[in-house]
Amino acid sequence: MPTALVRAQRRANGKCPTCGRDWGGTTNRCDFCLTKRRAVYEDKVLHGLCVADGCQREATHDKMCQEHREDMRLREQRKHKKIRDEAYAQYGGYRCACPGCTCTTPEFMQLDHINNDGGKHRREIGGCQQIGGNRILYWLKRHKWPKIVQPMCANCNFAKGHYGACPHANIVH
Ligand SMILES: [Zn+2]
Ligand SMILES: [Zn+2]
Ligand SMILES: [Zn+2]
Ligand SMILES: [Zn+2]
Repeated sequence: MPTALVRAQRRANGKCPTCGRDWGGTTNRCDFCLTKRRAVYEDKVLHGLCVADGCQREATHDKMCQEHREDMRLREQRKHKKIRDEAYAQYGGYRCACPGCTCTTPEFMQLDHINNDGGKHRREIGGCQQIGGNRILYWLKRHKWPKIVQPMCANCNFAKGHYGACPHANIVH
């Protein structure tokens, strides 16, 4: 794998970042590299090897070795935290919007659809109800953070969803 610097230079010169041949596209791999990579991937899956680049260990954890699966899990976790932090910064931070609540714990925070139309919205953007929280964050970002959601802790959000309002919404702290 070429270094990040080499890849950036190749990209700037219109070459494939991976192999260096002329490449008009902006992706990390030219068509040739992509086809080759796919073939390697399929061959590894066939032989029960870890699909991570350059790894020849046995795939014991869903097409990967334990180490690469763990790497991937951490990468996804970081990515998730990044988009989450970005979203909450846009909507006033990790602070429950319920007037009666003082919760500021990020782990308890959810994005509440202000008009209680979250289910409908999720179906519209995802085609089904059971989609991960990430897709909605990227959707909000693509649409320049529309004011249709607000940060709300899981307790208040649950109460609002089930009873129309949070029972402690009228308590002023
Ligand atoms: Zn290439
Ligand atoms: Zn591996
Ligand atoms: Zn709350
Ligand atoms: Zn509340």
